[in-house]
Amino acid sequence: MNRVIKVETDRYTVDTGKETVVCFARKKVKRSSDIVVGDFVELENSEGVLTVKRVLERKNSLIRPSIANIDYIIMTIAPLPEPDFYLVDKMLINCARRNIGFIICVNKTDLDDGFLKKVTDQYGADVKIISVCAKDNEISQLTEVLRGRFSCFAGQSAVGKSSMINALHGEKIAKSGELSANNRGKNTTTRATLYKLDEGTFIADTPGFGLLEVFDVEYDELDLYYSEYVELSQKCKYHRCMHVSEPGCEVKRRVEEGTLNKDRYERYIETYKDLKSKKKY
Ligand code: GDP
Ligand code: ZN
Repeated sequence: MNRVIKVETDRYTVDTGKETVVCFARKKVKRSSDIVVGDFVELENSEGVLTVKRVLERKNSLIRPSIANIDYIIMTIAPLPEPDFYLVDKMLINCARRNIGFIICVNKTDLDDGFLKKVTDQYGADVKIISVCAKDNEISQLTEVLRGRFSCFAGQSAVGKSSMINALHGEKIAKSGELSANNRGKNTTTRATLYKLDEGTFIADTPGFGLLEVFDVEYDELDLYYSEYVELSQKCKYHRCMHVSEPGCEVKRRVEEGTLNKDRYERYIETYKDLKSKKKY
């Protein structure tokens, strides 16, 4: 498959699997759909000039940065800086709504032994969780989930995204400073570049913050994004129980019993109330 890995004004760098080629695009193609990084394209060779003939249908896309066909958002958190779990909840929902896979990556495992368990207690039933220590180059779980996929990193500043990316690239890029310059956002990058780690394995150099621009879920559908609650809801007394204050709610019962994570539930209630009050006005 031909994948666009870099977009300049009218030049597109495309990875064909065998080689990297620079192409132009037919005006008609550009008019009908902007070509963005991550796109799969059909190429044609007209008199020695490679051109993009067609952009294949996207499975998902982000606007800032412009990027398409993301397999995973790697949501990175660490014991320090203290995580904002509301942010994790929202990213998880936004990824589900946009058909993007979501993985939680716990970094800085050297700092706190109990942190991974705290995260697993909250998200283990809903999300794949991996743990790494970028400082010591212990990133094998990350390497494994990235393989053959296109992933994009997200997470608060200072959780270690650049350190992980540098560890993935090894010495070469870390030394050139190319990646860190991009990550520090010196020029507010709206265009991403894909970095190839392996055949078919790509990562984006820009964090997937575009996902946070809108949080447009309806309050009465919020529960559907908590897969653990969806399963339990079969035992709730009411059909379409929102697990807030309805009688005979299994989710609430499990939280009170201590077999369902209370922190994540309390944030669910906060988010639910927040969305509902916004709806009124
Ligand atoms: P970014 O803002 O998410 O890109 O974070 P950085 O990669 O710049 O890392 C922020 C700080 O955390 C730096 O001082 C790193 O050296 C440090 N750091 C990164 N990974 C680890 C780790 O696994 N353990 C510890 N203790 N510190 C780390
Ligand atoms: Zn319920």
